[in-house]
Amino acid sequence: MTNNYDVIIIGAGIAGITSAIYLKRYNLNVLVIEKDYPGGQLNKISKIENYPGFKEIKGMDLAMSLYEQLKYLDINIIYSKVLNINVENDKKIVETANKVYESKYLVLATGRKPRKIGLEEEEYLLGKGISYCATCDGPLFKEKEVCIVGGGNSALQEALYLSDICKKITIIHRNSTFRANQNLIEKVENKENIEIFYDSVIDTLNIEKDVITGINFNQNDKKISKNIDGLFIYIGMEPNNEPFSSLNIVNPNGYIDVNEKYETKIKGIYACGDIISKDFYQLTTAVGEATIVASNLHLDYINSK
Ligand code: NAP
Repeated sequence: MTNNYDVIIIGAGIAGITSAIYLKRYNLNVLVIEKDYPGGQLNKISKIENYPGFKEIKGMDLAMSLYEQLKYLDINIIYSKVLNINVENDKKIVETANKVYESKYLVLATGRKPRKIGLEEEEYLLGKGISYCATCDGPLFKEKEVCIVGGGNSALQEALYLSDICKKITIIHRNSTFRANQNLIEKVENKENIEIFYDSVIDTLNIEKDVITGINFNQNDKKISKNIDGLFIYIGMEPNNEPFSSLNIVNPNGYIDVNEKYETKIKGIYACGDIISKDFYQLTTAVGEATIVASNLHLDYINSK
């Protein structure tokens, strides 16, 4: 495999893969670099009901279809963590853990990762009762009692998913109202095995033999304790911006600002999907942005010849 490409796409979520499909079909020499597995956040969504063409589809199934399309089009993908990026005139140099790659263009599509609460044992208890992925870990808690923290669409959607697997779900939300679609709120409120605590913030965790056994939280000024087998954290997302720290293209909130062509302030570096600063973080918006990126990049490629 060569080290020199027309375009390197960083991130194989739905945005990165969409731009790869378009760019490959424009006949450009494309490399996708992914640090984990194709599909990104899709792999952590139990059920998608608002993606056109599918009444409902599992996130993992959509991720697999995208990967198959990548393979069908013979698009190069490597699995490695991008450590740094340098720009030398027209050349973009991408350093990974194992190798250095070069290209004329970059598409940054690294997306976001789950936000952490910041509890002392949060990191340590990952896989020992704490999870950020109901789809992946929900089945481990069959007929057990779990807690979900958060009040957005993700928290409520995954609470519903878990309510069909677990005996009891407790939702802990720091606010007095949810920040989610009304139909989801109604479904959650009407589910018999879901109990909701508004205005509540987890204080400490109970741990026995290295496994989480309970939570202690404050509801207004009242202290409440609950025994639980698992804690699922869905309190929003944070941008995966680490590889771009040297480029000075990340705004104070951690996201990348782009112009109407989805180009960053560095010529030849485009960005799309959840890593950019925008109003709507949806699968469909990511797909649209990636299409615009590929089309603008292709135009620039032709004009520069
Ligand atoms: P989100 O909409 O940002 O919601 C995060 C939730 O976590 C909020 O309720 C927030 O509380 C709470 N929170 C934030 N920091 C916290 C902390 N430190 N401690 C406790 N609670 C905290 O995030 P999301 O649910 O992951 O959704 C991300 C995006 O994807 C959104 O735009 C969402 O609409 C979209 N999405 C859409 C669908 C769908 O259309 N079906 C499904 C999933 C996700 P406050 O409300 O008090 O701020």
